[in-house]
Amino acid sequence: MIEKYKIVIGCEIHTQLTTKTKAFCACENRYGGMPDTRVCPVCLGLPGAMPRISKGYVEKGAIAGLALNCKISNYAKFDRKHYFYPDLAKGYQITQYDIPLCSDGYIDIPYIHLPEEQRPGGKDYVGVDFTGKANDVDGKYKRVRIERIHLEEDVGKSLHLEGAHSYIDYNRSGTPLIEIVTKPDMTSPEEAALFMQTAQEILRFVQVTNGNLEEGNMRCDANINLTVWEDGKEYHTPISEIKNLNSFRSIKDACHYEALRQLEEFKTNRQPFDPGFKNTMGWDDVNGKTVIQRTKNSFVDYRFTTEPDIKPFTVSDEFIDRARSKVGELPEAKRNRYRKEFGLSDFDVETLTSSKTLALWFEEAASQSKDVKKVANWILAEVLAIVNEKGIQITEVGITPKHIAQLADAVSDGKITSKQAKEVFADMMANGKLPEVIIKEKNMVVVTDTGAIESFVDQVISENPAAVQDYKNGKTNVVGWMMGQVMKKSGGKANPKVATELLKTKLEAL
Ligand SMILES: [Zn+2]
Repeated sequence: MIEKYKIVIGCEIHTQLTTKTKAFCACENRYGGMPDTRVCPVCLGLPGAMPRISKGYVEKGAIAGLALNCKISNYAKFDRKHYFYPDLAKGYQITQYDIPLCSDGYIDIPYIHLPEEQRPGGKDYVGVDFTGKANDVDGKYKRVRIERIHLEEDVGKSLHLEGAHSYIDYNRSGTPLIEIVTKPDMTSPEEAALFMQTAQEILRFVQVTNGNLEEGNMRCDANINLTVWEDGKEYHTPISEIKNLNSFRSIKDACHYEALRQLEEFKTNRQPFDPGFKNTMGWDDVNGKTVIQRTKNSFVDYRFTTEPDIKPFTVSDEFIDRARSKVGELPEAKRNRYRKEFGLSDFDVETLTSSKTLALWFEEAASQSKDVKKVANWILAEVLAIVNEKGIQITEVGITPKHIAQLADAVSDGKITSKQAKEVFADMMANGKLPEVIIKEKNMVVVTDTGAIESFVDQVISENPAAVQDYKNGKTNVVGWMMGQVMKKSGGKANPKVATELLKTKLEAL
């Protein structure tokens, strides 16, 4: 009798980095375009071509590692991994074998985004990793450990078009990648998908990748098997590696399907567990099935050798510190801080931290204003509406954080009404002038200063003795006419409420 089973998932995520040029040559590093238009002897693997490490490649790798809490190696080298495949023109891939640039990191994924039964206290909650160590952090996060992150180059792209032929586009050949390898710490398909989503968010936030799954910027291979307890004994099912999952949904669906398939196989056609053996599988999105591609012994001899054309090099502490300074505060830390410091809602902080550019823009506006909540509201409601409508970045919107800070303060200070603020906003979007300038030019400031209004009232009373006499004779409706005179004198800027009260008090006292 099967008493229970547990799903065990580890991920390998390939992420393309946003360097200007490819990893080891001067070809432009970008997606798409006509096939084979961004190639050279180096990325085509022609004899005698010499690779050179591109500017920013190692640094972006280190930034990614530090953002994912890794240690960075002070010594780095590249290795050759030999295998034959048509999309690998050189016959070997330049990668890092025994010494990865980054190691021993982790990502804390928020429980709040997992189904309730998988959170602490839930019936499917698994709060320990496979070594039995707790990986629950503060009841808020599940910790997924990262074993290593290494640098390597992408290969070309095979195009299996209709008909008898396949084609290869080498534009992708030599694109800089990092491969993130986790420990088998994930215990549900939902967790695996959420891990990928969190990794994407962080790596985009520190601006090392576009993280665009549809364009293949990030791809996930999921290694999955089951631990099954039957009649008091513990069993493991053979590991399957599901390759090239390119959406959060496909990670979840493929792991779900594969877990159930393995359970069924365990019941009906039990296979022995061998740690050195893996089924390589693909995910058929249309039919919702995993498909066996090949079975392989994972100790395939790739004849790794140190890449002789690239000298091993030292990664200095100064280099690492510089990379660390570029990581900055990560999205989850920002969210926690915004909630605590500014009292903003969950929805507001999620939106404001959806990109680093937006978060920094908001922070700059907030630092210059007395009313952070108002600043947040103006950005969320008005500025982002324009950003989304035009499909631009907030930095391209035509106004600066200072504009929003001044506008928010003008309303908070009672200088202008909310209605006037909308007019000022439209004006500053049109001409880029600062709110203070617009308010002055349009004479918008409401006068609430009692002293100033009092002098207008006094003038009106002394200049209109007949009206005062009318009032004394009981014609109180004359107040309305006198108020009109006060407003005229103030140029329409006196606060009407304050002015009426002052006028009445003065008339009564006469
Ligand atoms: Zn090239």
